[in-house]
Amino acid sequence: MLPVIALVGRPNVGKSTLFNQITRSRDALVADFPGLTRDRKYGEANMFGRRFIVVDTGGLSGDERGIDTAMASQSIAAIDEADLVLFVVDSRAGLTSVDQQIAEHLRKSGKKTFIVANKIDGVNHDVAMAPFYELALGDLYPTTATHGRGVKTLMTEVLDSLPEDESEQEEESDRLKIAVVGRPNVGKSTLVNRLLGEDRVVVYDHPGTTRDSIYIDYERDEKPFTLIDTAGVRRRKNVSLVVEKFSIVKTLQAIADANVVVLLMDATEGIVDQDLHLMGQVIDAGRGLVLALNKWDGLESEHKSYVKNELERRLQFVDYADMHFISALHGTNVGHLYESIEQAYESAKVKLSTNQLTRILEDAVSVHQPPLINGRRIKLRYAHTGGHNPPIIVIHGNQTEAVPAHYKRYLEKTFRRVLDLHGTPLRIEFKTTE
Ligand code: GDP
Ligand code: GDP
Repeated sequence: MLPVIALVGRPNVGKSTLFNQITRSRDALVADFPGLTRDRKYGEANMFGRRFIVVDTGGLSGDERGIDTAMASQSIAAIDEADLVLFVVDSRAGLTSVDQQIAEHLRKSGKKTFIVANKIDGVNHDVAMAPFYELALGDLYPTTATHGRGVKTLMTEVLDSLPEDESEQEEESDRLKIAVVGRPNVGKSTLVNRLLGEDRVVVYDHPGTTRDSIYIDYERDEKPFTLIDTAGVRRRKNVSLVVEKFSIVKTLQAIADANVVVLLMDATEGIVDQDLHLMGQVIDAGRGLVLALNKWDGLESEHKSYVKNELERRLQFVDYADMHFISALHGTNVGHLYESIEQAYESAKVKLSTNQLTRILEDAVSVHQPPLINGRRIKLRYAHTGGHNPPIIVIHGNQTEAVPAHYKRYLEKTFRRVLDLHGTPLRIEFKTTE
């Protein structure tokens, strides 16, 4: 399970600047998708080889009405879901009463907290930081988020203090982990029941906290699966704590932990930004992706072709993912999801040889040469695999830094087609070897 770090603090102290500093260092798996807006508040980060989720709680406005109203349920939920809190304060402004109220809440929450004394640039460190020691809440780290100063030192300590990540060490198993994700009300619970209900399902109970999704182990056609149920359908009744049914953090963790993500959307509402955000997260996480447009039963037939066209237009950036038009309610087409899920998993795990990849590269280059750069042609010489799950193809040549995006896409499409890869991101990297 990816650890969750929440950024908390008054407005304008530098939370989103810090957020950008922290998430920038991740390996963005696919950075060049046009038309994809990303959720500002949740990001997956990778620092010092450690993956985690960062949440910028943003909303602690802390105006005169006091912290309780200011700390909207969103922010409180984010703190509850976090493993660790970075409490960001403004060293120049000094300790304010809102800071003290936030600190009070954090103390009550019992969350491990680091105080980040931001905007330390141009002020005397010792003098500026002194008042924050009073909070007696946790270690204090000076930063200048705008320049990234102090961020590495801070994050080294932060990541060191988190428990070891077991999922990284987990060896590969044959058990295919499927996460069903989507906005509230798109039909996740209904689909989870469908996916399980058709078969004799052997469900094992995994202990989990209310923050976690439910992991359901089962077999289908004698193949082992785990369904990661973010909707909490199968949550045991005796869990009395009220949890919000939809949680972005839960969704992100499920995505990170899955092999293949079934992203469910609502045909009667069309594709909305939140659907695209979720898609972006699945792509960034490098997971297999299957798209399902639910409630297809609720559409008039002329509306159906309109929706299909619209999807084709807007979802070009994920054209490698299968799209299914389903009715979870009636079970229509639900069985076909498994075909795509298994294919995405096979594609993600595929092992490719240098010979095979180099041959495909040579063919692609002979059909369509890379462009000239300053009168000199880019040469692409050979390709080998840089990893799988998701597959990475490393291409060696000269002037590779000048390979244009459209040519990279052409190569990606060619590799996909020839290797018959479906439903998995494919990452292409270039190395210049003159
Ligand atoms: P948020 O509201 O807490 O998310 O704060 P922002 O990240 O939006 O930052 C608010 C303002 O403070 C912006 O103008 C930032 O450029 C500025 N800022 C952020 N970090 C620093 C810093 O370390 N030093 C200085 N001088 N300005 C900063
Ligand atoms: P969740 O919040 O994503 O778990 O969504 P639910 O599974 O609770 O479904 C939300 C609502 O949509 C419920 O009223 C379901 O009965 C309804 N629903 C789910 N799937 C379908 C479907 O395929 N067709 C129609 N017409 N309604 C559906």
